[in-house]
Amino acid sequence: MTVLLEIKNLWKDFGGFVATRDVSFDLEEGERHAIIGPNGAGKTTFFNLITGHMAPSKGTVKFRGRDITGMPPHKVVKLGLARSFQRINIFPRMTLFENVQVALMSREGQSTNMFKLCFDLHVEETYELLETVHLREAAHETAGELAYGKQKQLELAIALAEKPDVLLLDEPTAGMSPSETNEAIRLIDRITKERGLTLLFTEHDMGVVFGISDRISVLHHGEIIARGLPDEVRNDPDVRRIYLGEAADDAA
Ligand code: ADP
Ligand code: MG
Repeated sequence: MTVLLEIKNLWKDFGGFVATRDVSFDLEEGERHAIIGPNGAGKTTFFNLITGHMAPSKGTVKFRGRDITGMPPHKVVKLGLARSFQRINIFPRMTLFENVQVALMSREGQSTNMFKLCFDLHVEETYELLETVHLREAAHETAGELAYGKQKQLELAIALAEKPDVLLLDEPTAGMSPSETNEAIRLIDRITKERGLTLLFTEHDMGVVFGISDRISVLHHGEIIARGLPDEVRNDPDVRRIYLGEAADDAA
């Protein structure tokens, strides 16, 4: 088994408050790994440390054996690690097509200032990516006017435009209705399988977590308190006491 991400003894403190406490973590090629934990456990911070959106106080992050600790986000993305955010991160005034096209241009190092002159770049690939997330029909609608669930689908297309090996999704179903959640998970499931992507995600819906994860790690006050196969985590007494409670039974 190839280890893609290897994290050793990672710490992050915000002026004395420790948000990430001595976290060591491996992500294996091809796996779907969920990070769970209550609000404020440090899940988003952990992602920020991996993708270069924050620098750790201590510790190392390696991707494919290469030390990427503190590397800026645009370089991390180029190595094959793409992410989506807990909060929507699209250009709301641009069309869906333009949002994806700009992502493709940025991957190729083409200047987005030249955008108006470049309307014919990556046209096929842009439509293909929109098709992949079931948004081709809406290609020329304004992104900010889409329903919330569809904006999240658009974010996925933008992340895929980076041609990643690893997809990091931070609460991909946050704020979604149950039917939007189902649709989003089916989409993520299909895309990761079709493209052979490794998936690291955070998620609050335990049905989703236990439904699609190969392994699960549990964060609590910035520390990993348990990790393993879904059944191991579900039956871990600390996890049940601290976090899962009834949710573990619901998902069983
Ligand atoms: P989660 O995603 O699990 O809900 P976060 O990683 O967002 O948790 O936050 C973990 C803790 O770190 C929280 O207590 C949060 O208030 C704190 N935190 C996160 N980012 C910052 C920041 N930039 N400055 C200060 N504290 C922060
Ligand atoms: Mg978060």
